[in-house]
Amino acid sequence: MTDALNIALNYAHQNADRFLADLKDVLAIPSISTSDEYKPEVLRAAVWMADQLRGMGIQNVEIMPTSEKGHPVVFGEWLKKPGAPTVLVYGHYDVQPPDPLELWETPPFQPTVRGDKLYARGSSDMKGQVIASLAAIESALKSGQMPVNVKFMLEGEEEIGSEHLGDFIKKNAKKLSADVCINTDAGMIGADHPTITYGLRGLCYMELRVYGPSKDLHSGLFGGTVHNPAQALTELVAGMHDKSGRVTLPGFYKKVRRLTPRERAAFKKLPTTKKFFLEQTGVPALWGEPEFMPNERVGARPTLEVNGLLSGWTALGSKTVLPAYAMAKISCRLVPDQTPEETFKQMQAYLKTKAPKTIRWELISLHDAGTAITDLNGDGVKAMSDGLEKVWGKQPFLVREGGSIGAVVLLQQYAGVESVLTGFGLPEDNVHSPNEHLHLPTWYKGIDALIHFLYNFGK
Ligand SMILES: [Zn+2]
Repeated sequence: MTDALNIALNYAHQNADRFLADLKDVLAIPSISTSDEYKPEVLRAAVWMADQLRGMGIQNVEIMPTSEKGHPVVFGEWLKKPGAPTVLVYGHYDVQPPDPLELWETPPFQPTVRGDKLYARGSSDMKGQVIASLAAIESALKSGQMPVNVKFMLEGEEEIGSEHLGDFIKKNAKKLSADVCINTDAGMIGADHPTITYGLRGLCYMELRVYGPSKDLHSGLFGGTVHNPAQALTELVAGMHDKSGRVTLPGFYKKVRRLTPRERAAFKKLPTTKKFFLEQTGVPALWGEPEFMPNERVGARPTLEVNGLLSGWTALGSKTVLPAYAMAKISCRLVPDQTPEETFKQMQAYLKTKAPKTIRWELISLHDAGTAITDLNGDGVKAMSDGLEKVWGKQPFLVREGGSIGAVVLLQQYAGVESVLTGFGLPEDNVHSPNEHLHLPTWYKGIDALIHFLYNFGK
């Protein structure tokens, strides 16, 4: 197996320029999923991916529609290693719009190398990452001793919220079954810091509406006799946290998985210290649950945030109004094993006991996302961790991300496949911004690390 590994690594090094040429080729396709105008281009990128897979010797390659309106999933598989584990490779071939165009130094769909960076929309997020995965698998196939079976699920709707992916996975759960999914859309903390993301938070987004009098009132005539909805709303909102920053919704923490000592040790090692958060935010002091470090509060603790408030007179000048209505947008970031449905019910229960008789209220669910977590002691994490360590010469950071990535949650939920999240994009790559770029030395290291992963996982 070591021989095969070395042959695969050699193959990758010898084909480094061709991999880069392939990447430039697909980056020239403006596969912007947000706009209907670019639908043919998104499809062109799907066709490009399918052709690339076929060229590598992948079988049963299909461009599978997800819905009438949506963008397709490119599927393919290579299952010629009976008894060996199966790796599902996730990727997305769509990109964000490039606007504002005038801020690009070279056109976004004219891939350009300057210094050790490749500039183009999608170079880092995530066509570069997809090509790294394909390059690693091609190299392993060429070694003559492919260590694992592989499947591919490349979607074209990630940048618009993977709207149809859940149904697609539900329908094709068997087809997508695998021992692990590799998702390289998560990036790394820094060029010297290989990173594995093993947890993602979920989301429960709500709108709370508070109704008072049947119309706006004169505060001089009715103030002091009518409970002002703006006041009632803010009183309710204020009660959603206690003094130590804990959320007070009944049962909110009941399902929260406790951090293990190993996880807490991993958080301690991260460069995202208290100082980092102070510098990044510009606040005079940090806030939140004192028994957890700031990076634990962001990655592994649930939160409740007021995202917006609306009521009364907010334009220039003064108006002595007692408003009839007040509204707050409120969202909770959730951690395993909380669910958006339970959180919504907990909010309802809170309002039922705390809302005063003087107002009427209504709670609306706007958007949900589940949580995801990958077993740190699982073979997938171990194989990836060893691969990254081999190439970078140091153990990867283990992080839990504050946001959500649709595919990870949906694969876990509907196909029972856990994802190992990593990637070779850097925080300074200008993802979603003008002059997006990919750091090529890191990218090439990433290809090597993925090759190591395949052989580690096949053992
Ligand atoms: Zn992405």
